[in-house]
Amino acid sequence: MVQTGLKNMMSKINIHNEADVMVISVNNPPINAGSTEVRKGLLDAIQALQNDPNSSAAVIIGAGNTFIAGSDIKEFSQPLAEPHLPTVISAIENCSKPVVCALHGAALGGGFELALACDARIALEGTVVGLPEVTLGIIPGAGGTQRLPRLIGVEKSIEIICAGSRIKADEALKLGIINKLVKEDLLGNAITFARSLIGQKIRIRDVSTPSVEASTVLAATQKALKAGKNRPNIHKAIEMICNAITLPIDQGLAIEREVFQELRVGTEAKALRHQFFAERKLFKALGSDEQKPKRIEQVAVIGAGTMGSGIAIACLSAGYIVLMLDQNEAALENGAKKVADFYDSRVKSGKIAAEKASTILKNFTYSSQWADIASADLVIEAVFEDMEVKHAVFQKIEEYASPEALLASNTSYLDIDAIAAKTQNPSRVFGLHFFSPAQVMKLLEIVRCKFTAPSVIAASLQFAKRLGKTPVISANAFGFIGNRIYAAYRRQCEFMLEEGAYPEQIDKALEDYGFAMGPFAVADMSGLDIAWAMRKSQVGTRNPEHRYVNIPDALCLAGRFGRKTGSGYYEYLEGAKKGVVDPFVHKVIDEASATKGIIRREFTSEEIVNRVLFAMINEIAHLASEKVVSDVTDCDVALVNGYGFPRWCGGPVFIAQEMGKDKLNSEIDALAKLSGPGFIKANLDGLFE
Ligand code: NAD
Repeated sequence: MVQTGLKNMMSKINIHNEADVMVISVNNPPINAGSTEVRKGLLDAIQALQNDPNSSAAVIIGAGNTFIAGSDIKEFSQPLAEPHLPTVISAIENCSKPVVCALHGAALGGGFELALACDARIALEGTVVGLPEVTLGIIPGAGGTQRLPRLIGVEKSIEIICAGSRIKADEALKLGIINKLVKEDLLGNAITFARSLIGQKIRIRDVSTPSVEASTVLAATQKALKAGKNRPNIHKAIEMICNAITLPIDQGLAIEREVFQELRVGTEAKALRHQFFAERKLFKALGSDEQKPKRIEQVAVIGAGTMGSGIAIACLSAGYIVLMLDQNEAALENGAKKVADFYDSRVKSGKIAAEKASTILKNFTYSSQWADIASADLVIEAVFEDMEVKHAVFQKIEEYASPEALLASNTSYLDIDAIAAKTQNPSRVFGLHFFSPAQVMKLLEIVRCKFTAPSVIAASLQFAKRLGKTPVISANAFGFIGNRIYAAYRRQCEFMLEEGAYPEQIDKALEDYGFAMGPFAVADMSGLDIAWAMRKSQVGTRNPEHRYVNIPDALCLAGRFGRKTGSGYYEYLEGAKKGVVDPFVHKVIDEASATKGIIRREFTSEEIVNRVLFAMINEIAHLASEKVVSDVTDCDVALVNGYGFPRWCGGPVFIAQEMGKDKLNSEIDALAKLSGPGFIKANLDGLFE
C-alpha cells in the first residue's frame, strides 16, 4: 500500500492523514501478527487520534496482504507484556472519535477482537474473520466472547467460537459482523465510511445481547461440546458466551480475561502450541530457492485400488490433472466409478456445487495404456504390495513416463531404495505414503531415499501443501515413521492382554484418554488377516528369544479376521456399528496367559495409557538415533494427523519433554522390565535435543 503524507513512523504501525481521517496501518509482516510492539503502536496511535485536532475519525488497516491474522503465539508461552489487547480495545472504545476497521485477507483471533471494538467494519471481498482460539486450547481473551454475542446472538456465537471457524466475508455481512463489503479500493471506501461516522460512536458494548430460548442454547451447547470433544476450554467458552446475556459487559470481560489467562498457561494449551509449531516447521525446506522444485500439474496414479482411487481424488480436489492407470480393466472401471461416485455424493450432500464437480471431473481420465502417462509430471505407484510387481511397474513407468517426471511409490513397508536401485535414475525416485482413505487423511509421509534429489523433496512438499496434507519426511526405513511407532504401541497392548487386560478395557482406556479409536477396534476395522500374513512370512527370521504374543494368531486361526468376517477382537452383530465383547476372545486370552504361566492381574486405565505412551516415546527415540526422522516433533505431527492421537495431549515427544530425562529414563527402564526380551531401550538423548 502506498503511504502518502507519512507523519509518524513507529516500527510496526504507520500513521498518516487523509484530510480529516487518520489512517493507522499495521505493518508486521508476514501476517501482521498482534505482537507487543503492534499493541503498543496501536495504543499510541489511538492516543494520537484523540489528541489530534485535525483528525475526526480513523481507519485501522493492515499493510500487505492481510489484516491482523492472529496474535503472535510465541508470546503466549511467557507472561504477556503490556499493553495487553484489552487495553488497546478500551482505548478505541473510549476514544471520542469513530474508528473504522478495514479488513482484507484474514482478521482472526486478537485481530478480529480488535475489529469488534471498532465503530464499524468494512471488508474487501475474500476476507475471512474468526476466533480460532479454541484450537489452541484457550478462549478469546479480549472480548470476543462478550462482543460477538451482542452482535449476532448467543446461538451463532457458540457455533462460531466453539468451532474456531473462519467466516467468509459474504457470510459475515449476512450475519451483521461486518457493515459493508467492497470489491476494490478498501482504504478509499473505509475513509469515506469513517468520514460518514464523524461525530458518532457505535460501540458493540452498548448493545444488549439478543434474548434467546434456553432450549436453543442447550441444543447449541450440546452440539458444540460433542464437536469440541468435550474439552474444558469449550465448556469455558460456552459459559463466557452465556455471560454476555446475564452479566454487565465489564464483568463479563473481566471473567473472560481471567479464564483466558488460566487456560493459556495450562498444559493443554501448551500441548496445542507444541503441535502448532511442529506443524508450522514442516514446510521449512520450501523456503530455500536452491531446491528449485519442479512444477507439478499432471499426475499419473498407477493402480486403481483402494489407495489409487483415493490418491486420484485427493489430487483432483487440489486441481491437478489426473490419469489413473490399472492393468486390470475391471479394477480400473471400479476405481473410476469410485472417483465419480465420490464427487456425486459431495454434490448430493451439498458439499460442493455441481459445476465444480463437473470441472474437477473434466481433469480426470483413466486408462490401461501405459503410453498415456507420458505427460505426467509426477507418477505415483499404488499397485500390490509385492516387490516383484513394484519392479515391473517401475520398469514400465521408466519406459513411458517423461524422463523429467518424479516417480513415487505408495508402499507401506517395502524398501524403496531397492525399488530405486533397479531404475536408471534413482535421484527422481521417492516415497509418498498416503494413509487410507487417502482423500481424507491429513498425514502424508514423504520418503527420502538414498539418492533422492533435494529438489524432488522440495517438489513433494509443495505437492503436499497444495493437497492440503500434513507432510513428514522420513528416511527409507521399515514402516517409515508412523507405522513403526504404531507397531510398538500395538505390541505393548498385546503384552497387556497377556498380562491381564482385555481388549475392551484397553480400548476404553485409550479412547477415554482421547484416541479416536482403541487399537483393537482399529485392528478389527482394518482386518486381522494382512498382519497375520506378514507375521507368517517372518516366522523364519523372527528371534525366538523375543516375547511373542500368540493371541492375534489364535483369533485368525479361528477365522476371526475382524469386522468383515463378523468377528475379531469383538463380535459384530448384524447391522451394529460397534462390536460387542465376546466371551470366546476372553477364553483365548486367558488360555494364552495360562500357557505362558502368566498370573493375570488388574490394570488401571492410567497404567494402560502410560505403557502405550512410554512404548511410543522409546520407539521415537530409536527413530531419532537411527536418523529416520530429523526432527522428533515430526513424530507428534504424524501421530496426531494419521493415528488419532489426541492433539490436545501434544504427542509422545511433548509428554517426554515435559517429564524430563531423569523421570523418563526410569519409566522406560520399568517398561523394559515389564515388556521382557525383545524390548530394546533407546538412547533417549535425541528426544531432548
Ligand atoms: P489394492 O489391491 O486395493 O489395489 C492395487 C491395484 O493395483 C489393483 O487394482 C491392481 O489391479 C493394480 N495393479 C496390480 N499390478 C499392477 C500392474 N502391474 N500395473 C498396473 N496396475 C496394477 O491395493 P491398495 O490397498 O490400494 O494398496 C496399494 C499400495 O498402497 C500398496 O503398496 C499398499 O501397501 C499401499 N498402502 C495401502 C494402504 C491401505 O490402507 N490399503 C495404506 C497405505 C499404503
